[in-house]
Amino acid sequence: MKRTIEDVDVSNKMIFVRVDFNVPLENRKVQDDSRIQASIPTIKYLSENGAKTVLVTHLGRPEGKVVEEYRVDPVAERLEELIGIKVKKLDYVDPNYIKEDLDELKPGEIMILENVRFLAGEEICDNGLAKGWADLIDIFVNDAFGTAHRAHASTYGLAKQVEAVAGFLMEKELKFFGDLLDNPQRPFVAILGGAKISDKIEVIECLIKKVDKILIGGGMANTFLAAQGFDLGNSYVEEKVLHIAEDLIKQAELNGVQMVLPYDLVVTKSLEEEPWRQIKKEPWRQVKTGEIDPEEMAVDIGDETVEIFSHIIIDAKTVIMNGPMGVFETEPYHEGTVKIAKALAACQGYTVVGGGDSAAAMKKAGVEADITHISTGGGATLKFLQGSKLPGVEVLLDR
Ligand code: ADP
Ligand code: MG
Repeated sequence: MKRTIEDVDVSNKMIFVRVDFNVPLENRKVQDDSRIQASIPTIKYLSENGAKTVLVTHLGRPEGKVVEEYRVDPVAERLEELIGIKVKKLDYVDPNYIKEDLDELKPGEIMILENVRFLAGEEICDNGLAKGWADLIDIFVNDAFGTAHRAHASTYGLAKQVEAVAGFLMEKELKFFGDLLDNPQRPFVAILGGAKISDKIEVIECLIKKVDKILIGGGMANTFLAAQGFDLGNSYVEEKVLHIAEDLIKQAELNGVQMVLPYDLVVTKSLEEEPWRQIKKEPWRQVKTGEIDPEEMAVDIGDETVEIFSHIIIDAKTVIMNGPMGVFETEPYHEGTVKIAKALAACQGYTVVGGGDSAAAMKKAGVEADITHISTGGGATLKFLQGSKLPGVEVLLDR
């Protein structure tokens, strides 16, 4: 267990809180404030207990320089509305320019600094930058689980130099994922998809030791099917990891984990629409796995597979999904993924979705609100699930 803000005396202290307010913006307005809401308990607690609270977040990918559209003003405004307390926004985040403003901060007051990724030193974890902040503050609080897999100046470098504890959101996420892996409610089902096995070998290996069933779709399934001897025609298959796929199938067997591969697939000859428009015929067909023509490629899971996967998902108590079931960016090959997303939404157990494309697919299916936990970054979730240590978590003090 990590120490939290409840384990330290925050009253009258200068507290630097790393939050993840990397929210979607449109016309400089916050489109979805759920990440801001998620950190409100931490910020409220600090304010009510007389801390001088200094918030820091990244927003977008400004890559170490000032980019006007990524200033955090819209985030500060929304936070102020949500929390009902004045939030002072600074135009700087560099420790050399903020000292005077920090000196003026009174107990209970809240300030938010400018986008931390405007600083070139952030992502390279510049020690001088971390030290500069460390000299100005008393306690570091990390409430940004989604960035904890990165050792940046504001997630790691600074934390090494001062008393560093977890915020309530971080505590909640650590507990959630810890329980998920240590003591999951069963049946525990993993759904894996996306293009590549090679990106996710460690995650698959880790999940094989934990789950009861693994459902595989997407390009990843093609490689597993090819490893079982099926002819995949012109489908995307990772030839160079066929032996790894074979080994993973064996590992699953040894662990008593049922690995379910597609029984049928949606295939097409081309992902480009034009040639098909000319002949005015639907450019796809559904086939049983094993009946793919040489010039066809598998781009989605078929109806029977959707049906089988959905039953397993709905009966599960815990489900983790990473990676879409097909080339969901190109309609109508989003259908398999969308139907699986709906099954996930209908499942009464814990449902966790990790990965950028997977999170986008949940949005496309309109089921975001019915998933227990969606992690867009994906990185932190996947690293955690594969048993890796997250630097931003490791650096926090133990209880
Ligand atoms: P996430 O971002 O959720 O971790 P990935 O990045 O691993 O997911 O995978 C998403 C990509 O996988 C998408 O670009 C999608 O088009 C691709 N993909 C899914 N199924 C197939 C398939 N059958 N053939 C080729 N690419 C696929
Ligand atoms: Mg992706």
